Amino acid sequence: MTPAQQSLVEQLRARFGERIALTEPSDVEPWLTDWRGRWHGQSPAILQPRSTDEAAAIVGLAGEPGVPLVPQGGNTSMVGGATPAADGTALILSLRRMNRIRSIDRAGRRVVAEAGVILQALHEAVLAQGLRFPLTLGARGSATIGGLISTNAGGTQVLRFGPMRALVDGIEAVLPDGTIHDGLSGLKKDNRGYSLDQLLVGAEGTLGIVTAARLKLVPPIHSRAVAWLGLASPQQALDTLRALEAGTDRIEGFEILPRESLEAALKHIPGTRAPLDTPHDWHALVEATADRADAEPPADLLARLLAPLIERRLVEDAVISASEAQAEAFWRIRDSLSEAERAAFGPATQHDISVPVDAMPRFMAEAAAEVERAFPGTSASGFGHLGDGNIHFHVRAGSRRGPDWLEREGEAVQRLVDDLVAAAGGSISAEHGIGVMKKDELERLSPDRVRQLRAIKAALDPNGIMNPGKLV
Ligand SMILES: Cc1cc2nc3c(=O)[nH]c(=O)nc-3n(C[C@H](O)[C@H](O)[C@H](O)COP(=O)(O)OP(=O)(O)OC[C@H]3O[C@@H](n4cnc5c(N)ncnc54)[C@H](O)[C@@H]3O)c2cc1C
Repeated sequence: MTPAQQSLVEQLRARFGERIALTEPSDVEPWLTDWRGRWHGQSPAILQPRSTDEAAAIVGLAGEPGVPLVPQGGNTSMVGGATPAADGTALILSLRRMNRIRSIDRAGRRVVAEAGVILQALHEAVLAQGLRFPLTLGARGSATIGGLISTNAGGTQVLRFGPMRALVDGIEAVLPDGTIHDGLSGLKKDNRGYSLDQLLVGAEGTLGIVTAARLKLVPPIHSRAVAWLGLASPQQALDTLRALEAGTDRIEGFEILPRESLEAALKHIPGTRAPLDTPHDWHALVEATADRADAEPPADLLARLLAPLIERRLVEDAVISASEAQAEAFWRIRDSLSEAERAAFGPATQHDISVPVDAMPRFMAEAAAEVERAFPGTSASGFGHLGDGNIHFHVRAGSRRGPDWLEREGEAVQRLVDDLVAAAGGSISAEHGIGVMKKDELERLSPDRVRQLRAIKAALDPNGIMNPGKLV
């Protein structure tokens, strides 16, 4: 521990007790490596406030000596955003003990939750009050509200309700100078200049510590149905989505996957079964919901809207879930694709990218062809949130595979994919953020944008204590 870190820990313990800081290596160690095990950092301590005042004291005391802080929630970042640097100069600031739901406003459909509330716990708490928080993702058992806000997380319901940014109605945060920003008043109209709340969404812990948020809720799902479609191409999938959207505003999810991804899941994920009898080059999973008992049942809605599309041969074949268990089984295939692809195809580079929705089918075809031409023997394709213009584009090593393929060619593949995304007017990070993983690429491809982000960062965090080395 450096003298400045030691002094900070001692002052905090004197004020708030021993538990404000964890310094035993066995307590700290599990939080030094990211979820996927790609980045390993060092830190002598984890600071763990229980209240906004404690968080403000930590940041206030860290500012003067310039002790860097790495905010951390569930540590499920896909881009190394919550991992401290390897030099041990930063302390981890964990929000996990700030895990209270402060209030639920049933009539106004709002919840105020602290940053450390785990997404699944939030789902359960609001459901018990007859409401729903309409954002979900695979890491819901660990990801926290503070982390979801700080990465502007997406997930599978963005199509209807938007990403985290659209669901945030106000934020309470500790800014880098130790002051508390209180944006929880619930004002519907507030035009006092820049929105600090929205600035903190997607800031990846570089502008302050989110301590609590006021979030929008929607009515709970009364019933749902999931259709599995067989399709000829991503363009047909997109045309299908547009046709469905013209007929209803109750489509919550629209995910696509190619034939080889489905085959990988069927082969490597126990208990999965092909939803359709015949093979198709592409598949889509469509979820429709009803939030009222007197609404047209989702299965009937999907059947009614899909029938003419099947007749026109836009959709080659379709099956609609007949039970909740079958709906779950369809989603299980989708949710297991990363794991299935790893087992089936070995090493691959993975790119969380977006382009304008209507440009996606063409991008997928052209980018795959371009990558396969530049790296003969590889195979490339994407799956995921077509309706959001966001796919997870994977380049598999194929015949080039070897134990060190990722080290040898991963960076070159990454640069080519990012160049293609930039040329298509897209984003090299659709929903996972920049963290350490994409920092250099962001700067290479968007130098003007990075300059502007840095100006904002310098204005709010002149000592550079908030999550240094991430994003900018
Ligand atoms: C299995 C799996 C599936 C996933 N699926 C999706 C998906 O579908 N869509 C998607 O968008 N993401 C997905 N993710 C990524 C991940 O869940 C999100 O990035 C999540 O929002 C991170 O939350 P967290 O609490 O774990 O934050 P952490 O990983 O701890 O931190 C993430 C970033 O936020 C900062 N941060 C954390 N808490 C705070 C705070 N209170 N104040 C300020 N900064 C803070 C950290 O410094 C870091 O930069 C997935 C991850 C996994 C492991």
